[in-house]
Amino acid sequence: MPQALDICIRGGGIVGRTLALLLARERLRVGLVDQPALAGAQPAADVRAYALNRASRELLESVRCWPADEAAATPVRHMQVWGDRGSELNFDASELGSPALTWIVDVPVLEARLADAVRYQPQIEVLGTPAPARLTVVCEGRASSTRAEFGVDFEVMPYHQHALATRIQCEKPHDQMARQWFAHGEILAFLPMGGAQGNSVAIVWSVSAEQAARLQQLEPVEFCRELENASTHTLGQLTLASERRVWPLQKAQARQWSGRTKDGAWVLAGDAAHNVHPLAGQGLNLGLADVAELTRVLHGREYWRGVDDEKLLRRYERTRKAGMLALDAGMDGLQLLFAREGEAWGALRNWGLQGVERSGLLKNWLARRAMNF
Ligand SMILES: Cc1cc2nc3c(=O)[nH]c(=O)nc-3n(C[C@H](O)[C@H](O)[C@H](O)COP(=O)(O)OP(=O)(O)OC[C@H]3O[C@@H](n4cnc5c(N)ncnc54)[C@H](O)[C@@H]3O)c2cc1C
Repeated sequence: MPQALDICIRGGGIVGRTLALLLARERLRVGLVDQPALAGAQPAADVRAYALNRASRELLESVRCWPADEAAATPVRHMQVWGDRGSELNFDASELGSPALTWIVDVPVLEARLADAVRYQPQIEVLGTPAPARLTVVCEGRASSTRAEFGVDFEVMPYHQHALATRIQCEKPHDQMARQWFAHGEILAFLPMGGAQGNSVAIVWSVSAEQAARLQQLEPVEFCRELENASTHTLGQLTLASERRVWPLQKAQARQWSGRTKDGAWVLAGDAAHNVHPLAGQGLNLGLADVAELTRVLHGREYWRGVDDEKLLRRYERTRKAGMLALDAGMDGLQLLFAREGEAWGALRNWGLQGVERSGLLKNWLARRAMNF
């Protein structure tokens, strides 16, 4: 009879794989349930690039999965945010004494590195279906079926916005600058890719559902013309370099992050536990912070406690829920402020951006909070 697992991780996304690699190093027997691709189907490559902070970088480096090539993890040295009436907010890495404000990481490259590392880690068993274990960690993303199976309430607040993501080739180099435009309730982000000298960007355009559908169906040339206008021609002529994909946006959090069934203990991590607006590029950073905290709690447990010890798992839940609180309040305010149309909201946005730009301390605090310094 096969030996029972210590940990069964359900979901082989970035959160699940990173956790599997870290727990395997703790000499735990880890099973990783990876959803098999549909027979004959070639999964489409993710067109996104993630802004990852220093804590995420250090965690991924610790499992040797941070992309070695700078072209796949472009350091952002400057960040510029424009309001709809000419107001501006600027951040600079040198003001924070850091080599970068954040890193823009090519998602398929990171996923491939993690998949390779899992393949060569003998302590991880890749499974097609869940197996009994003392602790089940649910990392199945926002639509987790195991979370529903365990009867966990997932409080969802739709933002009534969709994010359209794609990759763009630009006439001018990005100069290691991340750019964001807030206009008419829409948010457009240009994330620099291809290394310091690169001239490609990953874009995320948060717009209404109807606008997302329209933009997705436009002819590439027309789409790029609209994009050039929305980005005030900052990077010159733009060319579409990938397909356009759309995600509905929501804020969500599970009411309970840990518990027990008759088969063993469980915890949630990553998007299965919480969803935030991509506006501040924090979703995966938060998921990796869950991974770091769960690993820390399990690593530091007293010798008489098992990996399924309730006290231990509640400690993880409490710490991570507290970590979410501050960010949540800030994100809600920003989303509310920036996703509204109308004169009054526009004036408030401008006033807010100018105020932050002039207030050295608040600006510095905001930057450090977002970058996790
Ligand atoms: C447009 C957009 C831009 C974003 N930009 C950023 C950014 O710049 N920075 C940032 O930090 N975050 C960003 N995010 C958020 C980020 O995408 C998520 O937070 C992150 O992908 C969550 O990772 P995860 O591993 O928890 O979940 P997922 O990536 O959803 O992975 C879950 C995995 O579990 C698998 N699975 C699902 N159900 C089952 C099952 N029943 N059994 C087995 N496996 C299952 C899935 O196939 C998948 O492989 C962005 C999100 C969007 C939509």
